[in-house]
Parts: sequence; structure tokens; C-alpha cells
Amino acid sequence: MLILYWTILRLKRWRRCCHNIRIMACHIHHWAAILLAPLLSAQVRYDLLLKHGHVIDAKSGLSAVRDIAIANGRIAAIAEDIPAESAVKVVDVRSLYVTPGLVDIHTHVMTMSGLRGSLVEDQNVWADSHTFRAGVTTVVDAGSSGWRTFEEQKRRIIDHSRTRILAMLNIVGAGQGGGASEQDTGDMDPKATAAMAKRYPGLVVGIKTAHYRGPEWTAVERAVEAGRLADVPVMVDFGDFRPERPYEELVTKKLRPGDISTHMYLGRVPMLDENGKLRAYLREARRRGVIFDVGHGGGSFLFRQAVPAIEQGFPPDSISTDLHTESMNAGMKDMLNVASKILNIGMPLDDVIARVTWNPAREIKRTDLGHLEVGAVADVAVLRVEQGNFGFVDSYGARMNGNKLLVCELTIHDGLVVWDLNGLTREDWRGLGKYDKMQDRRWDSTYGPLSKKQK
Ligand SMILES: [Zn+2]
Repeated sequence: MLILYWTILRLKRWRRCCHNIRIMACHIHHWAAILLAPLLSAQVRYDLLLKHGHVIDAKSGLSAVRDIAIANGRIAAIAEDIPAESAVKVVDVRSLYVTPGLVDIHTHVMTMSGLRGSLVEDQNVWADSHTFRAGVTTVVDAGSSGWRTFEEQKRRIIDHSRTRILAMLNIVGAGQGGGASEQDTGDMDPKATAAMAKRYPGLVVGIKTAHYRGPEWTAVERAVEAGRLADVPVMVDFGDFRPERPYEELVTKKLRPGDISTHMYLGRVPMLDENGKLRAYLREARRRGVIFDVGHGGGSFLFRQAVPAIEQGFPPDSISTDLHTESMNAGMKDMLNVASKILNIGMPLDDVIARVTWNPAREIKRTDLGHLEVGAVADVAVLRVEQGNFGFVDSYGARMNGNKLLVCELTIHDGLVVWDLNGLTREDWRGLGKYDKMQDRRWDSTYGPLSKKQK
């Protein structure tokens, strides 16, 4: 009996003891949670983490496998190993290339001009329909608007676009009206054009002259004067190539260092001599600092110009599309198709990427773009180089075979995913139960309209 009583007593004490231990454990757990909470949450420092991708950043010269973390719309870290626990969203991008968001400095995206029958009205396209799917996060509208139409087009287009649209003002005040309006030297006012450019620094990044047919240099000279007054580069689409104003003189004398000759592989550019050798003045012009840009477009890129020129050491400084309705479904297609052509002609991938990111950003003096330095705006493209049999078509309809094709898997703009070709950021639907729309605003803008964060 005594033994039984003693046993019950021990059991009660033991249970009380256990109870106390449980309470103590509960307290420890409680206080630990309070004390460690800031530490634990501090570990989740990033909104988005791309792991194991091959990062190509021309500005820093980096071309190696790295992890890259994004927070608050900015590049937050690049390192060989960033812990997965440190990010809200982790995406495995092994075997893919991680580059800055592409910068296309020759596009036509000012739609809805209201100018019936004009080039702007007939041929311009809505940027968002073409950009993110090709890794492009910034475009420059090359001369759709002039000083008299820019603010209206800004209000209608730029302010509503998700793609970052910058602009070069046409030296013609009315903008790119096509036909006679582009010949109207009476509407080419360098002072008014420069004044409008200076009103929007960083947004207006250059002056454009295009399609001029006159025998003298008026259009080029007025554009260069506006560029000088506003301290921005000039981009020239030379229009008619007339003997009175030779292209050679344009690039060796008329343009300043930093000015841009677009449509560099146009058929009319005197590029090769009768023996197929690159003409010497082109190298002289490049030594002067004149920029040569692709500007593919509907009629401005021929393999018979581009291939020998690149093979003889005259590659483009920047690759651009000249995107509009007559180029988008023809030989040009999109930025990555144009870049793939240059890649297949033989330029190494790192050099191609420089020409669609850091080079064009520098050309338009937007050195905040086109690179992946910590602190930079988080515009990022994740690209795949497909191997296979591909065909590329030029502006006259000639074909070139190739075995590499650049494809955009993922585009990130201002730190948010805006294009995800194969659902790299997504979960398999079978594991999600009765799911609803999934959009984490910290890293995802694929489905939603513009958020305040983006603006
Ligand atoms: Zn153009």
C-alpha cells in the first residue's frame, strides 16, 4: 500500500514536472520567436533570386555563372552562391544566360498620332506587344515625334506604356509624317527642337533626321545643330543617297563623335569596293567616334553587306530593330532574331549581348541602363541559346542558315517578372488544389496592370 502511494505521488510530481517543463519550453519557444523574428525575417532580404544562370554583363566584363538577387526593383547582389532562403521567390535558371534587359534604340512605337495617312499612323506599333517577349525593356522611338508633337505623343503613349519608352525628336517639328512633310526644311528648327529635348532630359535622348531627299545637307546640319544645343546624339537615316552629299562625307565630316548612322548594312551604303573589300573610310569614321547601328527595319539589312563587313572587322556598335509594321513580320521579326543573325555570322555571344545592352545605353547617355551592377534598375533578360537548324531572312528576302537561335525565357522589368515563356516562375497546377489567381506583387507583374511600384 505504501509503495502504491509512493508510486502515485512520484507519478503526480513527474506529471507536474512535465507540465512545468512544457510550460517552460513553451516560454522558451515564445521568447525565441520574438527575439529571433527580426533575424529570421532579415534573412529574406530579396524579392527575387535567379540561381545558377550564366550572367553576361558587358559593363563589368562579367561572363560567368552567378546568382543574382533583386530587391525593391534594383539589382541587390551578384555572387557565386546566394542562399535560396534569402529570397521570396527563387528561380533556377541553370543553362540559361542572364543579361541586362535589352535596349533597342531604333523603334517606331508612337501609335495613335491622329495624323491620318502619316508614317506614324500607318506603321507604328504598340511597344508592349513586341518588347518583353524578346527580352527588351527599353526602346527609343526614333523620330516619330518632333518638337511640336512630342508632348501629345508622350501623354498618349509613353505615359501608358509598360515598356520604358525614350525618344529621339525628329528634326521636323511635325514628326515623321512621311512624304512631303519630311522634306519641309521650313519646319526644321534646331532651337525649338533642342528646347523641347532639354525640357525632358533623359527621356528625350537624341535627335533624328530621316528620309530626306534634298541635294543639300540642311536636314543633317539642322539635326546636328539641335543635338549640339541639347547635348544629345543625332541619329541619321540618310534617306536618298545623292552624289551631292555623299555618305562618306556624312560619317567622316558631318557627324560628330557619338552621332549615330543607323541602317549601317543598307544596300545603298558604299560598304565594299569592287574587290569586295571593306572601304577604308568606314574605319576612319569609326576612329572618329561615329557610331554604326544596325536599324534592321523593312529594307535596311542585307546579308551581302553585313556578312563581309563583319568578317572584315566592321561589326555594329549597337543592334537595333527599326520595329514597325513593315519590318515586324518580315526579315526583322524582333530584337532577338536580329541579334541571332549577328551571332550566326560569327560574333561571340558576349559581344552580341554588349551590342543590345550596354553599348546602346551608352550611346544614348543612359548609363543607368543596360547593365547589372548592384544598385542598377532591375531590368533583366533570361535568354536561351537554342541549337538546331534555323533560317534567317534579310530585308530583300535572301536567306542565311544558322545553328543558333536566341530565345527569351524570362523578362524582368523594374524588378518584376513581365514575361515568362515556359512558366519558370510557376508551380505545377496539380499541386495547387483549387487555386485562384496567383500574383505576388513583390516579384510578379505578369498579369496585373501597372502598379505604383513600377511607376
Ligand atoms: Zn526607322
